[in-house]
Formats: sequence, structure tokens, C-alpha cells
Amino acid sequence: MSSHLIGQTAALLTALTWASALVLFKRSGEHVPPIGLNLFKNTIALVLLGATLPVFMAFDSGHALAALAGFDASQLLILALSGIIGIALADTLLFHGLNLIGVGLLSIIDCAYSPAILLCAWLLLGEVPAGVLPYVGGALIIGGVFTASRHTPPPNRTRAQMLLGMSLVLLAIVTMAVGVVMAKPVIEEMAVLWATAIRLLAGTLALALYTLLGRGWRSHWTIFRPAPAWKFAVPAAVLGTYLSLIFWIAGFKYTYAAVAAVLNQTSVVFAMVLAVIFLHEPLGARKLLSFTMAMTGVVIVTFSQRLDTPAGWRSLWPAWLLLALMPFLLHLALGPLVRRREWRAAGRCAWCGYDLRNLPGPHCPQCGRPPSPSPLPPLTEHP
Ligand SMILES: [Zn+2]
Repeated sequence: MSSHLIGQTAALLTALTWASALVLFKRSGEHVPPIGLNLFKNTIALVLLGATLPVFMAFDSGHALAALAGFDASQLLILALSGIIGIALADTLLFHGLNLIGVGLLSIIDCAYSPAILLCAWLLLGEVPAGVLPYVGGALIIGGVFTASRHTPPPNRTRAQMLLGMSLVLLAIVTMAVGVVMAKPVIEEMAVLWATAIRLLAGTLALALYTLLGRGWRSHWTIFRPAPAWKFAVPAAVLGTYLSLIFWIAGFKYTYAAVAAVLNQTSVVFAMVLAVIFLHEPLGARKLLSFTMAMTGVVIVTFSQRLDTPAGWRSLWPAWLLLALMPFLLHLALGPLVRRREWRAAGRCAWCGYDLRNLPGPHCPQCGRPPSPSPLPPLTEHP
């Protein structure tokens, strides 16, 4: 395998592991409050990173302890602050929002990450974005988020709750970007695993301190006792904090940064598919449209320098083709599943839609098929 193929596969795996983690975090959130879930996932990530760091220290000179000695206290302090803002605060907001709006909508808002990084780099580091395209891409992503916000709320959610959830997620994404950009000068010099470990440690300590100072601290820590909720929370933490980080590093190491960044953001595709299958989230035209707008925006923001010339636009033809086809492919792949689910819920034959209510016998008189078993009973209510 060429090194680019390794890098691109790793970047896609980053997206897949993150999307799977989101679905599992959503299930965990039904039993675990956001701060507890954040503490729990950070603790698992710290343990796994602690086990991995010695391996990197042995094989990669950049990760050696001696390389860490070159950083002074103020740099470490910035990293720690970045962890408190970008992990302790941001992920708690993210989990709050996830509970309210579900995985599909969250993953669309997640596309705002790249313009948020540009915006923070502008405000905090004075790096003015070059050209008009980053603004066009950013506007498309915001447009996608607004389109998604007009989504009909699911039966058990009010529009106000949906808007609150979307605002919390958007705030989480911006907070994450602030956390990354403020520490950018340090992160660029330090080996990734060390920088991540320091940020995680600071974020976790801050959360722990917060829970211990507040009242009712026990409720935040109940998840640390083995419980059925671990079935979702443990794999979510391993996939979402540890495996996705390792794949993320490999993606940026082995292929172009812009390619890796866009492939990482394809998590929105995986997230929408997994959310429809496992969480029974709805998938309408509005969601597909907002997905296309947001993802096109991500490609434009990320490749804005290459898109200066018509030849640059042409060179990205596979991306444009995929973006144009993806809504139709998703609709083709998931439409029948969604329709059968709706028919079944309405007491109709899952295969042909014939009304089976008040009929004797289990077989459908229209198509003759036996009643379709419900292979995946609704594990959860809609977001
Ligand atoms: Zn039938």
C-alpha cells in the first residue's frame, strides 16, 4: 500500500470510529449525565494513552522524554488551559447537545469545525484567511446548519429543545476550536500524544475538581462502578477518544493535511447512516440537503488555496461527483429501511404497505408474506 493510501484509509477510519462513538455516546447519555460521561471517557483515554506512550517513546525520538524537557512552564500551562476549555468544557457541552438533538444533526453541525478553526486563528493569532473561498465555504456550512435547524422536531422534543441542543453543540465546536487554536504554537512543536495526554490530564483534573466542589458529586461518579451502561460507554470511550486519535495521527502523517481533514469530516456520512440504523433517527430531504451543503462547504474551506484556478476546481472532480451523488445513494440505501419501519409502526405490512390492522392470520393478503420480524427493536426514543 502506498503511504497516501494508508493515510487516507486511516483518515476514513477516524471518521468511522468517531461516528460509531457518537452513536454509543448517545446511548450512554440515556443513563449517564454529561459531566460523568466526559470524566469517564477521559479516564479511559488517559489509561490507554498511558499504556501507549512508552511504545511511542521507545520508537519515536519526538516522543522521547528528553524532547518534552525543551518546553517551559508557560507552554505547559497553555496546553493545560487548552485542555480545560477544549475537552472539559467543550465535550460536556457536546454531550448535553447530543442528548437533545441526536447524532445526525450533531454531525452536520460538526462541519462547522473547520471554519471555526479559521475564525479562531484569525481572532487569536491574527492569521487572516486568504481569498474569498473560506468565507464561501463557511457560509455554505452555516447555511447547512440553518437548513437542518428547520428540521421538524421529533415527537418527544419541542422546537425550543432542538434549538437549545443545536446551540450547545455549536458552542461546543467553537470552544473546541478555541482550545486547539490557543495552543497551536505549542501543539505544532510537541509530539501529538504528549500534547494530547497533557490536555486530557488537565481537562480531567478540572472536571474532577468541579464535581468534588459541587453538591451531589456522587451522581457524576456512579458511572465508574461497573454497570450495564458500560456496554455502551466503554466502547464509546475507546473508539471516540483513543482509536480515533491514533487513526487521526496516522491520517495526517501519511497523506496531505487537506485530504486527511476532509476525509475526517466524512464522519457526517457514517454518523447519519449509523444513526438511522441503530438509533432510528429520521432521514428526510432536509437533512440530506443540509448534509450536502455542509460537506461541500468543508471541501471548499479545506481546499480553498487549490481552488484559486479553474484547473484546481477540475482536479477535485471526484469530490464534486461524490457530493452530488451522496444524497441519492443515502436515500436509495436507507429509504426502504425507513419506510418499512414507518409501515410496521403504523400496523401495515412491512413489505408492501398493506393495512394489516383488524385482519385475521399473520400473513399479508396483498403480498402473501409473513409479518416481518422487527430485527432491531427501537433501542431508544428519537433524539
Ligand atoms: Zn404485504
